[in-house]
Amino acid sequence: MAAVKSYHYFADNGWHEPASRTWFDSFNPTTGEVWAYIPRCNAEDIDRAVQAAHAAFDPWRRLLPSARGNVVRKLGDALIDHAESLGAIETRDNGKKTVDITPALKTWLADSFYYYAGLCDKLEGSVIPVDAPGILNYTKHEPFGAVACITAWNSPLLVAIWKIAPALAAGNTVVIKPSEHASASMLALMEAFQETDLPTGVLNVVTGFGEETGEPLISHPLIRLVSFTGGVAGGSAVAMAASRQVKPVIMELGGKSPQIVLGDADLNLAANGIATGIFPPAGQTCIAGSRLLVQRELHDKLVDIVCNIVRPARLGHPENADTQIGPIANEPHFKRILEHIKEAKDEGARLVLGGNAVQPDSAPNGWFIEPTIFTDVTPDMRLAREEVFGPVLAVVPFDSEEDAIRIANDSKFGLAAGVWTRDSARGIRMAERIAAGTVYINNYFNATTQSPVGGYKQSGYGRENGIEGMKAFLQTKSVWLATEPNQPNPFA
Ligand code: NDP
Repeated sequence: MAAVKSYHYFADNGWHEPASRTWFDSFNPTTGEVWAYIPRCNAEDIDRAVQAAHAAFDPWRRLLPSARGNVVRKLGDALIDHAESLGAIETRDNGKKTVDITPALKTWLADSFYYYAGLCDKLEGSVIPVDAPGILNYTKHEPFGAVACITAWNSPLLVAIWKIAPALAAGNTVVIKPSEHASASMLALMEAFQETDLPTGVLNVVTGFGEETGEPLISHPLIRLVSFTGGVAGGSAVAMAASRQVKPVIMELGGKSPQIVLGDADLNLAANGIATGIFPPAGQTCIAGSRLLVQRELHDKLVDIVCNIVRPARLGHPENADTQIGPIANEPHFKRILEHIKEAKDEGARLVLGGNAVQPDSAPNGWFIEPTIFTDVTPDMRLAREEVFGPVLAVVPFDSEEDAIRIANDSKFGLAAGVWTRDSARGIRMAERIAAGTVYINNYFNATTQSPVGGYKQSGYGRENGIEGMKAFLQTKSVWLATEPNQPNPFA
């Protein structure tokens, strides 16, 4: 077994041991072994990181916009330069398939830095024609200050980059806390960024647990905004903590996203989209299309096609180029998914594919679960209502377009939805009525830096990506300038 790597946390341009002098284990989900020790930061470490971010804020926001853009652009270059080693860590720490993650880091995730670098000098304010004579009124966008980013384990670098790039480009400084289950890649990314011109204190990385590390970060009086990605329970705890000091929050939470297959859909295309929408990342993605709503008369045929597509999928070691589905990223989650499967059976859903933990030859000790499909799911079952965040698809039949909309919207979540139809006008009509932040028509799973993502209902609020993703890290100032003597004595 290779030596276990011990990390430090990063604040004020230096690597530090945690004040507690304690570390916790990070597991490799493919082998079940501990491969790294992660610092267990507490309020003392948080204070060091936040003080550094606070001190760095003024000079950072005052950099000329194009100069700040140049620094952010170089973060993208550093990401590309280190994509191989960062990808290897995501594979080891989180089970991400190397063939997916490394190219993603080099291309569309690096693009996040380039996109927001380009926006640094383009978000203009406006001159407002106010009903006030002798006044010039204009608005400008200003950063908040030191902001906290708290991220989930499922796509550690993606989730982090979607926050760091716009936050920094907007002129904020950042303290980021990755998930306890997947902290190593963010620490390694910070190491890569040290080769750039990023000034001291502009980006800081603290690691540890939600309540012990995350809470004091959110509650630190010098933190001005919180951007959170995670589950509903964590999100609402974070929002409550932030509300005590009236801090704005950006919330990217979970989903139970419906894929709606209408009677006139191209079934093979839809089946590809349904399989793609959930199984390759083993369902561990917020927008997983985990509810398949299908026009009743197509039900059996579509389920057959989807099962035939998914059945031969190769589960295995995420470093192997021919692996199509990797492991579940951590053991507690692996156990939770198996509980969901058992509960679905107990509730009366019919298992038509998978349903078991498996030990692939290439990774016999890893945490793997077969792609799993349940039919005979009714909208009131927990399987149709709760996020499993695993490779488990729930199939629910419907009888009419109206029925499909009703079932799709009968959820506390509203993150994404897919609609499959040969009639584009019908697709658009459905998109108008589905309560979700993203609707895909005849495709699923596309995401690029340019288009905003985010939730309706308990899937969250605020947006990431696109121009809105940067505006979320900016506040508006309105300036009133008197162009002629304009202030009479109120008591004359
Ligand atoms: P959690 O909500 O458990 O954790 C998310 C982060 O919040 C972690 O860093 C966690 O710390 C921290 N945290 C938890 N509780 C608190 C607290 N009281 N105070 C401060 N910080 C806290 O989510 P998961 O990591 O399990 O991620 C899975 C969830 O994320 C799923 O619901 C998924 O849908 C969602 N998600 C949403 C995305 C979106 O864009 N909408 C994208 C990706 C995932 P720690 O775990 O280290 O203790």
